[in-house]
Amino acid sequence: MNSTAPRSVTILGSTGSIGRNTLDVIRRNPGRFTVKALSANKSVEEIRNQIGEFHPQSVVITDPGAAQTLQKEFGTIILTGAEALNEIATQSDIIVAAMVGFAGLRPTLEAIRSGKRVAIANKETLVVAGELMTALAKRSGAEIIPIDSEHSAIAQCLVGESPESIKRIILTASGGPFRTRAKETFDSITLSEALKHPNWVMGRKITIDSATLMNKGLEIIEAKWLFGVPLEKVDVIVHPQSIVHSMVEFCDGSVKAQLGAPDMRLPIQYALGYPDRLPQEYDRLDLLASNKLDFEKPDSEKFPCLRLAREAAGLGGVYPCILNAANEIAVEAFLNEEIRFTDIPNIIKRTMEAAPPRSAQSLDASSDQSITADIERIYHADRLAREQAKQLLGSAVLS
Ligand code: MG
Repeated sequence: MNSTAPRSVTILGSTGSIGRNTLDVIRRNPGRFTVKALSANKSVEEIRNQIGEFHPQSVVITDPGAAQTLQKEFGTIILTGAEALNEIATQSDIIVAAMVGFAGLRPTLEAIRSGKRVAIANKETLVVAGELMTALAKRSGAEIIPIDSEHSAIAQCLVGESPESIKRIILTASGGPFRTRAKETFDSITLSEALKHPNWVMGRKITIDSATLMNKGLEIIEAKWLFGVPLEKVDVIVHPQSIVHSMVEFCDGSVKAQLGAPDMRLPIQYALGYPDRLPQEYDRLDLLASNKLDFEKPDSEKFPCLRLAREAAGLGGVYPCILNAANEIAVEAFLNEEIRFTDIPNIIKRTMEAAPPRSAQSLDASSDQSITADIERIYHADRLAREQAKQLLGSAVLS
């Protein structure tokens, strides 16, 4: 890439928390980036403002009615449908994959196939298909750069290091809002309590995942694929201040950490500007003001999702996909106040138990054909697990 020409950016999921922060990074770095395309699900007002400010060439939106209205208003190309999403995912220098959940898989795979830089915030895609994504990236020359703050921290610690020298990766977890709450009271956790994250402002799905610690479970699997390390080399440590974003221990015993204020614009800007660090006036870390860094062991009795994620990753095949599908269904039901907080891990556990035996059969990333076949296998497993989890929602056997 020519460092003087502005890089074109497409944001899949531009009205979510990561999408809006990405646009703020672009706004603060005039002349460096241009917005090529945006996609949104239902936030019509937000996307209208974004089109007015950033003038993308094309926009994909789910609702056809809204698409027509916006087309008339701006003259911008407004598209709808999954095909359109796949198309815009291949047409710029950098694609920011910021859609929530499994829905982002197909366009993210297309972006990787096109050999571009994929700045990835959509961790669920790496959880269900990390093996295929990294193999595809090797073939196409695509760069996968993490936006997730922990993985951005690890990537920054690994600059100049050889993969063989990694002894272990230490993911930090804030512990979420229920770190110190007694386990016996978990049944009565309300939605509004679960939506109050102590350190980060994020979307609703990931905020609940942070409260159950499933977010950290998904991040273990994400780290495995992004950095090519076995599961046993990925540890989790609770760090309530969220200042150390993650660490890497090397074979000589040296540990590197990346620290910063909890602001998602930092990892986003690093992913867009890499290998350059761009000067910017974000909140600075004041170590004298926050003079304490605490570390604790995570409690997997209180937070069984952490254990379930490791279990799914250990089983391999489409088990991470099943875990993710069941989690998406359970979290949505919790957000709709249909189930209790403690039902979330139960639904996931039971969905995994009900999976067909062939679910553990390894994915095969050795050829284009096998990758295509396995992507279909993942879609099939996802559908089945969602049906299974939905049946459990209505059953009286929960906890
Ligand atoms: Mg994270």
